[in-house]
Amino acid sequence: MEKEQVKCLIIGSGPAGYTAAIYAGRANLSPVIYAGLQPGGQLTTTTDVENFPGYPQGIGGPELMEDLRKQAERFGADIRYGVATKADLSHQPYTITIDGEKEIEAQAIIIATGATAKYLGLEDEKKYAGMGVSACATCDGFFYRKKIVAVVGGGDTACEEAIYLAGLASKVYLIVRKPYLRASKVMQERVLNHEKIEVLFEHNAVGLFGEDGVEGVHLVKRMGEADEQRYDLPIDGFFLAIGHKPNSDIFKPYLDTDETGYILTEAGTPRTKIPGVFAAGDVADPHYRQAITAAASGCMAAIEVERYLQQ
Ligand code: NDP
Repeated sequence: MEKEQVKCLIIGSGPAGYTAAIYAGRANLSPVIYAGLQPGGQLTTTTDVENFPGYPQGIGGPELMEDLRKQAERFGADIRYGVATKADLSHQPYTITIDGEKEIEAQAIIIATGATAKYLGLEDEKKYAGMGVSACATCDGFFYRKKIVAVVGGGDTACEEAIYLAGLASKVYLIVRKPYLRASKVMQERVLNHEKIEVLFEHNAVGLFGEDGVEGVHLVKRMGEADEQRYDLPIDGFFLAIGHKPNSDIFKPYLDTDETGYILTEAGTPRTKIPGVFAAGDVADPHYRQAITAAASGCMAAIEVERYLQQ
């Protein structure tokens, strides 16, 4: 298998990966980044980012990531397409296999692999994949202009997706399993006051139906402690927004993770239990999961790499 030695390997190209690359590049560490399955990360599937400091009018997610990529390149980051498919962190240099066909031997690694959208686990989600089921409103919303869609989830993502879809679809149902929304107050208000959005509290989606694509969802509505009502709701599109799973599987034999799979790091730092291996961004952050916190931890990881390599 082809082998290559690098000083600093960054896996992932979201805000954490690119920020780490900017800092590592400026520190002359010649960082190599593998961009992963979704170059630019989750923000490339978002519309407006309103809370990244420095953009008073907000900025489009894809645009922000493009700017970060260019900034990383300006300082010499070697950004490549490819997915890390295997890891050997048992000894120095650490080895990461890319796409099952190339081995990168690195003195230091920053894991910034982010997280991936979760699904409910219904058979019908697979059956109708690409035929009415999606986990990305900004990617697929366009196909539902003047149609009826449902979004599952009660967090900020679900609210954001519902509002985005309401700009295209004729009607949006938000399917929430609890009697309240978990989203921030401002997002809750936008959703609850939106004329095209109807929130279905205490509802669970248990299946989908349709001939050549989604034509409706089977719902169960909780009625008090013991009772429930089952009914079908006609929809054309079914969007999942119920959170994310950290992309840490290949590192689990070597690093500690919590029960969800978030990589555990030393409190307040991106240090994992292996010297020279750092974790930044959503893959190690079950709490904040913001672009700005991911960027900050990418910065910290690059500074840690610099200190580690000097030792
Ligand atoms: P969250 O974990 O905050 O919310 C997930 C939602 O999905 C919850 O309402 C949860 O319900 C529901 N859910 C989870 N599993 C299921 C299931 N099996 N069936 C039905 N419902 C389910 O994830 P988000 O992706 O919304 O947000 C992640 C983080 O990113 C948060 O910290 C959020 O604030 C942040 N964020 C911020 C944004 C912004 O500031 N603009 C935009 C988007 C995200 P329950 O409440 O019952 O657990």
